[in-house]
Amino acid sequence: MSDRRGNRQRLLARVNSHRDAMGALTDAELRDKTREFRRRVEQGEQLDQLLPEAYATMREAAGRIVGKFPYDNQVLAAIVLHQGHIAAMGTGEGKSLTATMPLYLNALTGRGTMLVTVNGYLARRDAEEFRPLFEFMGLTLAVGVPEPGIADFSTAEKQQIYAADVVYTTSDKVGFDYLLENLAGTSADKYLRPFNYALIDEVDAILLDLAQMPLVISGSPRVQSNLYPLADAFVATLRQDVEYEYDVSTGDVHLTEAGVEAANRFFHVENLYAPAYFQLNRHVFLALRARVIFEPMRDYMVMGGELILLSSVTGRLLAGNKLQGGLHQAIEGRESIEITTENRAMASVTYQNLFLMFDKMAGMTGTAKGSEKELLKTYGTEVVEIPTYRPLIRVDEPDVVVATVEEKERLVMDYVEEVRATGRPILLTTGSMRSSLKFSQYLLDRGIEHNLLNALSEAKEAEMVREGGGKGAITVATLIAGRGTDIKVTPEAKEIGGLVIIGAEKLPNRRVEGQVRGRAGRQGDPGSSRFYASLEDDLFVRWGSARQEDLHKRRRGPRTMRRLLDRAQLASEESASGARKLSKDFDIAMARQRELVYELRDEIITGEPITRRDLTALADGVFAEAAAAHAWDSHAALMRYVFDNLSYHLPEDFERLDVHSPQRVRELLMRLFERAVQEKVDTLDDAELYARFQNIVFLKSIDVAWIEQVDFLEQLKTVVQNRTLAQHKVEYEYRREAYFAFEEMKRRINRDIVRLICLSRIERGPDGALIIQFA
Ligand code: ADP
Ligand code: MG
Repeated sequence: MSDRRGNRQRLLARVNSHRDAMGALTDAELRDKTREFRRRVEQGEQLDQLLPEAYATMREAAGRIVGKFPYDNQVLAAIVLHQGHIAAMGTGEGKSLTATMPLYLNALTGRGTMLVTVNGYLARRDAEEFRPLFEFMGLTLAVGVPEPGIADFSTAEKQQIYAADVVYTTSDKVGFDYLLENLAGTSADKYLRPFNYALIDEVDAILLDLAQMPLVISGSPRVQSNLYPLADAFVATLRQDVEYEYDVSTGDVHLTEAGVEAANRFFHVENLYAPAYFQLNRHVFLALRARVIFEPMRDYMVMGGELILLSSVTGRLLAGNKLQGGLHQAIEGRESIEITTENRAMASVTYQNLFLMFDKMAGMTGTAKGSEKELLKTYGTEVVEIPTYRPLIRVDEPDVVVATVEEKERLVMDYVEEVRATGRPILLTTGSMRSSLKFSQYLLDRGIEHNLLNALSEAKEAEMVREGGGKGAITVATLIAGRGTDIKVTPEAKEIGGLVIIGAEKLPNRRVEGQVRGRAGRQGDPGSSRFYASLEDDLFVRWGSARQEDLHKRRRGPRTMRRLLDRAQLASEESASGARKLSKDFDIAMARQRELVYELRDEIITGEPITRRDLTALADGVFAEAAAAHAWDSHAALMRYVFDNLSYHLPEDFERLDVHSPQRVRELLMRLFERAVQEKVDTLDDAELYARFQNIVFLKSIDVAWIEQVDFLEQLKTVVQNRTLAQHKVEYEYRREAYFAFEEMKRRINRDIVRLICLSRIERGPDGALIIQFA
């Protein structure tokens, strides 16, 4: 460890050793460096070797073009970022400027780099600030997210964007583009280059806070299920610890044996867990989760007959977002509002797997405290603390812990008044949307002017946060509202002590808490932070180890209370980390399958055409399997199969065929298949056209089956969680069933290929275009 630190210090010294030489260059000479570096990379020089000169060059250029010359600390962080690790740099230390150095260096190979942020506003803001710098150095820069109000870029635009040396974008956008691209039909529709280097800003928010929700592209609606209200009606009759068990700390809910029996009786089935009741089982589990885990006004609200989610991370309204896998509909069932259509999941990926696809990934964050081990284990990234440029003089006061919420809120408001009298700006952070509204109301009641920061547009949010550092300013905000934007404390406010952070709740982990505190005391500013907590707070109720009554009976000293609270925080951290692990484990099975399918598609799109021999072998496999499955013992059954899969015309000798001879039957089917293929070849009368037709058939068969599979895997998650108790069993069951389903999917693809080749009709449009009508 210290070896690596020494190594980084030596690298920094070498960057500094080029400082004067770079300073002496003319603009033109400085710019020419890029060409020189590129040539050297082409000739085999490693980026590691180039680093000192390249960083010194970019640093000098930054000084000239954007008027900010990166400090030694920033260069040090930039070295960490090139090495594929996470730089923990305090708020306001200048992470955006730091990023330009590793982006420049890694773009020299011509393989592209990406700067990934949490929202489009930040991506655009940073891109616009540093565009002149990159362009001065002869690199191309593109913004990967469209302006607000614009749906998406065209394929041609995306091709141009992703061809740029540096792309500033968001995690969502890269994820969705990745998924969308793999629904493309031809190589002309592709736009991504192989993932090379990703530098993630606010990396903890993306890799940890957002990690549990996979990105999902929804497609056609699923057949509407009427089971939701019924499942809810059943679940409403159940009692905790009798028919179901709920572990608050892990979020695990499941039916007990008595519960399963009750379900069997209620729905008149023999066994809820039998494969035939997959859907019923799923609905029961969803209804149970909807009732037990979700709470109105904390997790969601009903507005105008519509269910709207609240983000637990940011406290924002997630209008338009829906919980996946039917959970959204289950909550609608519980609330007795209209059940919205449930769309099929067409493609999905988690952030974890998305970023693991990059050859190199690095990140920056204010603090990753308490999550270092998880980051190392999951992503192989080390967290390296970067010392601040100016010493930190913020005062972090000890927590104030009291027994009741009421008492706590009174104390918080008293403190707000006390600070207000001094004129120091206040940022009052709350753990949830509900709580932020409550404090906003208290302030209104007392006639205190303030800004309320939640559920707003990102740009507006940034503006409000920026203004939060003026004398007398009061801002009430949810957790990461405005993250990425600096609260600039005015000189006047600095003089009287700077920004005061008041935490109205202890937060579920030390990292988020550190982020909140970090909003004050930036760049050596004065400031302070103080958190309030009560033993009735969510954190304590869910994660505390002592029983509530005991706490109330015996009055405990503040030290004990604080220790209990710290312990609750640790328990909460561990559970969140466990949940992320489960979601990652689920995704591993899917990721493997996704890779295989995407590879297969790529090969069809870009590889050699499939030969006639391969096609025949494929059909032979399909017929053999069909023979085993159908047992054609009558002409009628075989006729049905031929009509459904091979031809609308029976051969003349069909009646004379001995259907009891598997050999004869297979010969007949093969004959029909070969005839159909030959017909297509003849109709098209052009080898290339025929190859294209065949490709379309293959892609369509793969896509239809894969979309079903993705959808099935999403549903399977809920089913296996309902079925077993132990976590390792859940994973095992999921992987096993996912595997069987994948094998079945492959067979289905082959069946579809045979069917589509035989039964589709080809026409030539007036302009010679190929029109294929699929059966
Ligand atoms: P962070 O993302 O680390 O919180 P920012 O990148 O938003 O910080 O930078 C905070 C502020 O410091 C910005 O106004 C930025 O322009 C300024 N800044 C950063 N580095 C330097 C530098 N080397 N010289 C002058 N100003 C800088
Ligand atoms: Mg930043």
